[in-house]
Amino acid sequence: MPPNERSKAKRLLDDCFLHDSDRMRHYEAIELLKTRLVPIADRETAALDAVAGRILAEPVLSPRNVPPADNSAVDGYAFAHADYLAGNGTFPVTARIAAGNKPSGPLEAGSAVRIFTGAPMPEGADTVAMQEDCDADNDGTVVVPPGLKPGANRRKAGEDLKQGDTIAEAATLLTPQHIASIASAGFGEIPVFAKLRIALVSGGDELVEPGNTARDGQIYDTNRHMLKALLARLPVEVTDLGILPDDPAIIGKTLAEAAENHHAVISSGGTSRGEEDHIVAMLDEIGKRHLWQLAVKPGRPMSFGQIGDTVFFGLPGNPVACMVCFLLYIRPALLRLGGAAWSEPMRFPLPAGFEIARKKPGRREFWRGRVVQGDGGRAQLEKFARDGSGLISGLWQSGGLIEVGEDVTAVSQGDLLDFIPWSEFGI
Ligand code: AMP
Ligand code: MG
Repeated sequence: MPPNERSKAKRLLDDCFLHDSDRMRHYEAIELLKTRLVPIADRETAALDAVAGRILAEPVLSPRNVPPADNSAVDGYAFAHADYLAGNGTFPVTARIAAGNKPSGPLEAGSAVRIFTGAPMPEGADTVAMQEDCDADNDGTVVVPPGLKPGANRRKAGEDLKQGDTIAEAATLLTPQHIASIASAGFGEIPVFAKLRIALVSGGDELVEPGNTARDGQIYDTNRHMLKALLARLPVEVTDLGILPDDPAIIGKTLAEAAENHHAVISSGGTSRGEEDHIVAMLDEIGKRHLWQLAVKPGRPMSFGQIGDTVFFGLPGNPVACMVCFLLYIRPALLRLGGAAWSEPMRFPLPAGFEIARKKPGRREFWRGRVVQGDGGRAQLEKFARDGSGLISGLWQSGGLIEVGEDVTAVSQGDLLDFIPWSEFGI
């Protein structure tokens, strides 16, 4: 298959996405995205200093031992432990080795060498006494303290990484911690997936760009800026298409054009059933809809589909729903499309420090909340007092999401609830 066709074939999805149910449950939506999306990003080689937050395209194996040689963990005196046991702890000092030096030869039998942190141990030496614990005499001898174990203060070659050890598997989202090991193994560049090209747009006649004067009835576009901040932490390049009016022709044209040269298009607003909500109708006209209407609060009018080969995500207009849906569905979907494995945020079960008399069954809810100290200093969950999906300040006043399943109809003090800290979403 020519490369062009192959990359087209790789580019996702098919009709299996179509789903009968009007209101898909959270885990059905996750399952749909998880099983149907495949990596579509190209590969490239990138410099070490540019790969934090990028996705690894091939496994990275250490080409050498780290550290490369046995070396001293302290400034002090190195000797053979057998000599130390056989003698009285007094050694002639016969050489000096600093970090970066090569030992001039093996250890002379019965002697010690002056050595510094990170300097290679001479052949025959296996133990180091810290300089603070030693008495060095002017006559060139040193008295080392009793009680040192064989191998004390020595780092073994390869104790961190052995030659051939895997530092990171393909599909790993690279963290600064990985960069440390990759640098220690000597790589100046590594193979990663190229950044996905994402087009981002807001929709709504009421929206005005922050920095401008808002006229009567206007509100500032919040979602596009929040989403840009969220996308900035993912391996993507964003084209900002600004604010669209509630005009089906303009929406259709903009989305269709954006789909031509992006891997994914993300919009917010206009996804409900209202007369001024044109996103879903336009998606049906120019593409295919695979998901719309989730049994999830906040986030019911989330939509997902494709325009040609390009993935389309339609986020709810309410900023809280917009952020929650981005974190739950779009973030893992973009990471997967970008070459990573599907990843679910870790849930931490914690006792509720509050009561909820009634919760509607049949839908999964994600409440803004945080962890506080309850009786006896034990951690418990506090729920953000108000529920409104437009209460943007609740996002920074909380520490994450409290997840409450479809079957739950009430919450009592002390009930264990799953908490997802924002950090699980990389924010
Ligand atoms: P919609 O999905 O268009 O019906 O919007 C639902 C609510 O979210 C309305 O109150 C909109 O004004 C609001 N909204 C939509 N888009 C944005 C946005 N980009 N920034 C802030 N609020 C928005
Ligand atoms: Mg609207």
